Order: sequence, then C-alpha cells, then structure tokens
Amino acid sequence: MNFYVMTLFPEMVMQGLSNSITGRAMDQDLLHVEAVNIRDYTLEKHGHVDDYPYGGGAGMVMQAEPIYRTWKSITDRIGKTPRVVYLTPQGKVFHQSMAREFAAEEDLILLCGHYEGVDERILEMIVTDHVSIGDYVLTGGELPAMVMIDCISRLVPGVLNNDSSAEEESFSSNLLEYPQYTRPEEFMGRRVPEILLSGHHANIEKWRQEQSLQRTKERRPDLL
Ligand code: SAM
Repeated sequence: MNFYVMTLFPEMVMQGLSNSITGRAMDQDLLHVEAVNIRDYTLEKHGHVDDYPYGGGAGMVMQAEPIYRTWKSITDRIGKTPRVVYLTPQGKVFHQSMAREFAAEEDLILLCGHYEGVDERILEMIVTDHVSIGDYVLTGGELPAMVMIDCISRLVPGVLNNDSSAEEESFSSNLLEYPQYTRPEEFMGRRVPEILLSGHHANIEKWRQEQSLQRTKERRPDLL
C-alpha cells in the first residue's frame, strides 16, 4: 500500500514510521510511505506557506496554493487521484472499522494541517475524507497521520508476521481482547491461569471468549 503524506514536517513522519513493524514493512516493499514537503511547492519567494486569517483572529492559516501544487505533483506522478484524508479534529473519529475500509485502498494521500488549520477552499477541492483521532486538539496533523498509517498498515497482508493476530484483536468483533500471559508460569507469586497450561484448545477458546466479554463489560460497556 502507498501512503503519500503532505506535511510541513516530513522528517517527523518518516522518523516515526521507519522503526519496528512499519519500518520493516517499508524495507520489504509491502508499504511505501512518502512524506512530501508542502514548503517545496510554494511560489512565495521567502518560502511562506501560511498567512493571516481573513476576518481576523488568532494564528495563521495554511494557504491553498502550495497544498494544491503538492497534491498535483503527487497525482500527476502516480497517474491516479486516490482518496485524500484531511486530519482534523472536526472529522469523523478514527475507528478500527474505518482502518479496515482504508486498508482496501492501494493508495492514500494524507494532508496534515498546522497552525490554525487550512484554507477551506483547498479542502473543498481535493479532500474526500475528514478524519479525527479523538476529541482533543493537537498542534499538527503529523501524529494523527502516523496513527492512521500505523493502524492501517497492520491490516495490509504480510505486514504482521501472523496475519490472524490482527483478526483476533480488540475491536475486531466489538470486544476487547482477553488477557495475555507469557513465561514464567509464576511471577512474584502470581500464577498464569491453569486453563492456559492445560493444552485443551476448546476450553482455552471458551475461557478467552468469557474473559473478552467480561473485560468489555467492565472497561468499555459502550462497545456492547
Ligand atoms: N483551528 C482548528 C480547529 O479548531 O478545528 C484546529 C487546528 S490544529 C491546532 C492544527 C492541525 O492539527 C489541524 O489542521 C489538524 O491537521 C491537526 N489536528 C489537531 N487535532 C487533531 C485531531 N484530534 N485529529 C486529527 N488532526 C488533528
């Protein structure tokens, strides 16, 4: 899957994603992540990409022209016009089922805002999806873009060593995952539940389902 991130801070995005599982998937060409610097596409001679808001008010607003030219350079180069996600606290809140939907795309463009946000006209022109990562306000769209890319990437075949682990996880069937244990069998007097040592797969599966349900009732009853 190919991700094109339009940003003023490309190093932040690339450094964040080039480690661990996403980094390995990029090395194996299962993922292509490209952070494109919007500042490289400004026509303004001092490299400015923002200006004061019409009507007054605090902060600066990212201008339409450099964003349009960044988007055009990406779409011309790849010869397609993929969905464009604008990361914004005003968007639909990101969710595992949304990640599954995006994972079916071959290409995705993400637009990271900064300062007070982005000139509305360019959003009207190129954006297909407005996505928030939660009801709070961050300084920029880079962390939300990285959150989305990390989550979507785990659903791309081959990115996780064991693809079934993504299917069984929290939210996959609107339940939280059961508790997990590893060696040693006893840690500071706390033993691993006996059932997990029994080798009886059907009983283990039943116990895990019960634990999932109980945990969801306790911690996230809204999911049920
Ligand atoms: N003035 C904007 C508003 O009230 O909706 C907030 C601008 S915010 C300070 C700057 C940028 O950070 C936004 O353009 C967006 O790209 C990003 N951002 C902030 N919070 C976010 C969130 N919860 N989810 C996704 N993106 C967010």
